[in-house]
Amino acid sequence: MFLKIEGIKKSFGYGENRVEVLKGLNLEIERGEFCVLLGPSGSGKSTLLNIIGGIDGADDGSITIEGERLEDMSEKRLSLYRRKHLGYIFQMYNLIPNLTVRENIEVGAYLSDQPLPVDDLLNILGLTEHQRKLPNQLSGGQQQRTAIGRAIVKNPDILLCDEPTGALDYHTSKEILKLIEKVNLKYGNTIIMVTHNDAIKDMADRVVKLKDGGIRSNILNKNKIPAAELEW
Ligand code: ADP
Ligand code: MG
Repeated sequence: MFLKIEGIKKSFGYGENRVEVLKGLNLEIERGEFCVLLGPSGSGKSTLLNIIGGIDGADDGSITIEGERLEDMSEKRLSLYRRKHLGYIFQMYNLIPNLTVRENIEVGAYLSDQPLPVDDLLNILGLTEHQRKLPNQLSGGQQQRTAIGRAIVKNPDILLCDEPTGALDYHTSKEILKLIEKVNLKYGNTIIMVTHNDAIKDMADRVVKLKDGGIRSNILNKNKIPAAELEW
């Protein structure tokens, strides 16, 4: 198993303000899988992504990636994991305002020994003609495409997406999700995504629902449309 999440517990706050967000959560994800996390607001979706991403530590339990436990990694190893093997896409694009589209993507490439060719990526993301623009000269969708480019130019093993289309209209959202699916199929990155967008039903390999601190349901998606039938 590529990614093993075992017995993860996480609480925030102290005393009477203490909330137990994750209560011993278990989940396994295969390499290259496109996994979608659903669940009500406050159910711990972002918390789980942050723990997988090594940004936040669990109170108990373990995350194992290809046999290596995150909790056992040295500071140096963990830093390497975050910089080279992990991509993160958020609702807010967080682009560097005084760098162009191309330069924002190159910042991601700088973190890797073997980055993907930036020109190919600009082409796939439909950004070739916008590559010299600054973030404030772009639409929301173009900004998010740039953020996708920055996250995947290092060809990360795992791409974590936390409501990547939360700030976009329905049409643009669908376009962005399709693009992330294309990345998953082309580069084989394992994707874990939180989204409320319905369009994901055609794309995800696995749909996991969180509730009350654990997994409420975990199903392989029968509605996934095979890649060959997708129109790009
Ligand atoms: P979701 O992403 O599913 O909406 P979150 O993982 O963001 O949920 O949050 C789950 C719960 O944990 C919420 O009640 C939230 O207020 C709480 N929480 C998350 N992060 C922190 C934090 N850094 N400090 C205190 N409470 C937090
Ligand atoms: Mg969240």
